[in-house]
Parts: sequence; structure tokens; C-alpha cells
Amino acid sequence: MDLTRTLDHILLLAGTSEARQLAKSIAQRFAAVRLTVSFAGVVKDLPDLGVPTRVGGFGGVDGLVSYLQEEGVDLIIDATHPFAAQMSRHAVDAAGQTDTHLIRLERPIWHEVDGDTWQHVASTTAAAEALPEKSRAFLSVGRKEIDKFTNRDDCFALVRMIEPPERPLPDHWHLVLERPSKSVDAERHLLKHHKITHLVTKNSGGASSYAKIEAARQLEVPLLMIKRPALPDANTAASTAEVLKFIEQFVDCRD
Ligand code: NAP
Repeated sequence: MDLTRTLDHILLLAGTSEARQLAKSIAQRFAAVRLTVSFAGVVKDLPDLGVPTRVGGFGGVDGLVSYLQEEGVDLIIDATHPFAAQMSRHAVDAAGQTDTHLIRLERPIWHEVDGDTWQHVASTTAAAEALPEKSRAFLSVGRKEIDKFTNRDDCFALVRMIEPPERPLPDHWHLVLERPSKSVDAERHLLKHHKITHLVTKNSGGASSYAKIEAARQLEVPLLMIKRPALPDANTAASTAEVLKFIEQFVDCRD
């Protein structure tokens, strides 16, 4: 089989479990295409995906434009976290300036189901303001967002994040340095143990951090659900399979 490629170099913007799956699938299925995986470098413990990887910001839109031109990138796959909005906006801008193809993987948002009590809030700032006085909150937000809550030291907070916060938290708060658990039992235990009255979370979507939402439902703990930031129009895919299908259109298979 003769593969005539019109794709030379794919840049995969990573930071999610879907990006890790895509890196492996692309390397297997499109072995003749150069693939570079890019991480922000926020998390120190990066996975070894067995493909060429770069770490750290590009230096804004201009830096990304230079990278795309110098490295001959034909396609950007934006598989960053739904709240990594700056990176996604830069990708759209830089792709437009350089005529580079772009597809953004947007995992579906979580929806309220029977038994949930959700209050939708527009931002982390709005979530911090909406927390009732003296509540006991489980703040399942990133280290970049936690500062928005520290003026609410009338409340107790259980804080879970992967890397430690940049600034100290109020003394009476409890910090857990862990990834979200996939076990509903473990999440229920955590909520019960800390007598949590409110769960605060970003609407990240996906299965890997959904257990806490199910645990909150079982314990009738209300949620403050932070809406996703708006992103500019782009080609989008709802799953890794759709991204792989998108790549196929560039690969002309002839017998
Ligand atoms: P961001 O605000 O969109 O990005 C900030 C800057 O980080 C970007 O402008 C870019 O720097 C660099 N950057 C981000 N992703 C990159 C990538 N894949 N490769 C190279 N550079 C990258 O996103 P964030 O600050 O990382 O996170 C914002 C929110 O997303 C937080 O809520 C965080 O918890 C969540 N999140 C992000 C990631 C992630 O991998 N980014 C993973 C999980 C959760 P330059 O402008 O210099 O290019």
C-alpha cells in the first residue's frame, strides 16, 4: 500500500487524558507523519508517551506562529483542558495567521441529572462569592484558581490539586495533593469525612473526574458548577475517534 501524505507535522497540544490517548493512536496509525506533543509544563510528573515531546509555553501567539513556521507544522490538534482557554485562543489565532489546519477536541460538558442540585456560576470569582457564609466547601479547582477563594476564610475548605498552591492557604483549610479519584466510594468518604456542605467544580466533562459529582448526588451535597470559558470558532471534535477521522482526510490511501 502506497501512502501519499499531505501531512508532514502534527502539533498536539496536550494536558488531558484524551491527548495522551491521541498521541499513542496517531503514532500507531499515522507512523509516517511527524508528531510533536506539547505540554504546558504545569505538572512536573509528565507521562512518557514514547513520542517527541516539548514542554513550556511558546511565548504567546507570536511565539506559536514562529514555532509553526520554523517546524513546518501542518495541523494543530488542540486537546488541552476545556479551561485552558488562553492556549486554545492562541492556537486559533496562530493557525489563522499561518494557514495551518486546526481541530479542537471538546469533550462534552456534564449535565445535571435527577438528584443533582447545581448552581451554575460564570467564573471562579462568582463561585467564591456564591459560597454561603461559614460553609464547608470542597474546592476541586486548579492551583491557578485557588487564590480567588482565599478571601473566603469564613468557610472551611478542602482543597485538592495536583501541584502545591503558589501561596499559602488559610491555616484551617485542608490541602490534598492528589489527582481526582475515579472511585465514587472514595469521593463519598472524602466528602463525609470533612463534613462538606458544598462542592465547587469546573465543568470539565469526561469520566476521569466525575466520581465526585456522583458522590455529591448520593450525599445530597449541592454543587457550584463553574461554566466553561467561551472559545473562538474552530473545527471541533467530541472524541478522540473523531479527531483520528479528521486526520484521515489528509492521508490518501492508494493500492
Ligand atoms: P491557559 O491559561 O490556556 O495557558 C496559559 C499559557 O500556558 C498559554 O498561553 C501557553 O503559554 C501555556 N500553555 C498552556 N497549555 C500549553 C500546552 N499544551 N503546550 C504549551 N504551552 C501551553 O492554560 P493553563 O494556565 O495551563 O490552565 C488554565 C486552566 O486549565 C486551569 O483551570 C487548569 O487547571 C486547567 N488545566 C490546564 C491543563 C493544561 O495542560 N494546560 C491541564 C489540566 C487543567 P504561551 O502563551 O507562552 O504559549
